Amino acid sequence: MDILKNYIGGSWLSSREKNSIEVIDPASQEVLAKVPYGENTISDVQEAVKIASKAYQEWREVPVMRRVQPLYKLKTLLEEHAEDIARIITKECGKTLNESRGEIQRAIENVEVACGTPILMQSEFSENIASGIDEFMIRQPLGVCACIAPFNFPGMIPFWFLPYAIACGNTFILKPSEKVPLTMMKVFELLDQIDLPKGVVNLVHGGKESVDELLENKEVKAISFVGSTNIAKYVYSKGAANGKRVQAQGGAKNPVVILPDADLEMSAKIIIDSVYGCAGQRCLAASNIITVGDNGKIKEALYEMAKARTTGYGLDESVEMGPVITKDSQDRILHLIDKGVKEGANLLLDGRNAKITGFENGNFLKPTILQNLPLHGEVIRTEIFGPVMSLIELKSVDDALEFINSGRYGNMACLFTSSGANARKFRNQANAGNIGINIGVAAPMAQFPFSGWNESFFGDLHGQGRHAIEFFTQTKVVIERWPKEWSRKF
Ligand code: NAD
Repeated sequence: MDILKNYIGGSWLSSREKNSIEVIDPASQEVLAKVPYGENTISDVQEAVKIASKAYQEWREVPVMRRVQPLYKLKTLLEEHAEDIARIITKECGKTLNESRGEIQRAIENVEVACGTPILMQSEFSENIASGIDEFMIRQPLGVCACIAPFNFPGMIPFWFLPYAIACGNTFILKPSEKVPLTMMKVFELLDQIDLPKGVVNLVHGGKESVDELLENKEVKAISFVGSTNIAKYVYSKGAANGKRVQAQGGAKNPVVILPDADLEMSAKIIIDSVYGCAGQRCLAASNIITVGDNGKIKEALYEMAKARTTGYGLDESVEMGPVITKDSQDRILHLIDKGVKEGANLLLDGRNAKITGFENGNFLKPTILQNLPLHGEVIRTEIFGPVMSLIELKSVDDALEFINSGRYGNMACLFTSSGANARKFRNQANAGNIGINIGVAAPMAQFPFSGWNESFFGDLHGQGRHAIEFFTQTKVVIERWPKEWSRKF
């Protein structure tokens, strides 16, 4: 099996690194590919930066109206190849085919919004700030921008950044997760067909070594990172120390509160989809489910729906939940379930011994519910990133808000209710950047920022929409005086 190539300067090039790690189908354990991994990936990154930096000099001068034309082609190609890409996502990442199709749709929406860059990049002009003097602001690109992506949305997350970065006149280097590099290999085959000048978009493989080179290389001006909180903090501090603009999205532990006046059937269904969708490996997966007041019926409904959810191979269309990404991930989740039980939780639904016929070695776990974890324990505050619900009872909306606002993360908080006043209070006071009211996965559409707070985000401007345009441009303010006396008379 060949080692995956990098895409640099419009060509597919072999890595200088001869060591590799395997990309493994999390359901079948089939080896899908080998990805370069080791110290020599540093020189791959250096080569990509050199070429992207050269390409930038010309690309920044291309009028924005022309810079977005390839994006229209990209949208069409992504639509034509959506099903192929979805199948690749499912193969390497494990999620169900429908989840992969939804992911590609979200990627396409970001391309559509980035097509509006000609107007989004437009700026401000004030005439006569003083007699005969005008002042205006222009937005200019930064240079070479890089994205370091996580495993859980291999088809969508690079699109929070890539289309905006290049439409703004930057050149771009993507380092996909070494666990799921194949989706972007396919996307870059499409990017190769949209008439972008060579070097505008580049893909390099690798792990920590390639990331560190991107963080240290002087020619890289901006870093967009998405991944776990510890690495996000590292990337943010190292990138900033090296003078780069950084946006770093981290982990999460998302609370959902259900009030007794919520629509029981609808709330339970939506919450189950949020907790167990993508096998709980979504940064916006609901994790701590908080019932307020007398809510016995909702607990029963959640239990029954979780138990009924079908687990299996993602390409089997009858399946509702796939495996988790790796054996290490499976072990970590099993350890956290055991720890939760040791901390005193009741294991209401035990999904630990999942055996899937035909996929006996897959990284499967079935839906699990830990009930009444102690509020001051560790598990209730730890990102599990697997199909595990923690079910907690609290007495009031204020108690729920106090619990939520004492957490370290702030990616999402949701409330289920039919009371407008409680909804209003919740959205005003919950300490999280994405709020859902009667919504289970409050994922912002492409025109809104993907707004994490606290330790779910390090930086200022988020991915997607106007925030992306601001992140990928620097403002220049010009004050101009043209005295009348200097004009020739005609
Ligand atoms: P990860 O942090 O392990 O890896 C992310 C990227 O960082 C990968 O490209 C990886 O190669 C690189 N990396 C890993 N270790 C590194 C190190 N020591 N030094 C430098 N680079 C390193 O994350 P993951 O497991 O791929 O993704 C899951 C995590 O991502 C979860 O915590 C999830 O909540 C988070 N996530 C957050 C968002 C968000 O918007 N906030 C979205 C998706 C995923």
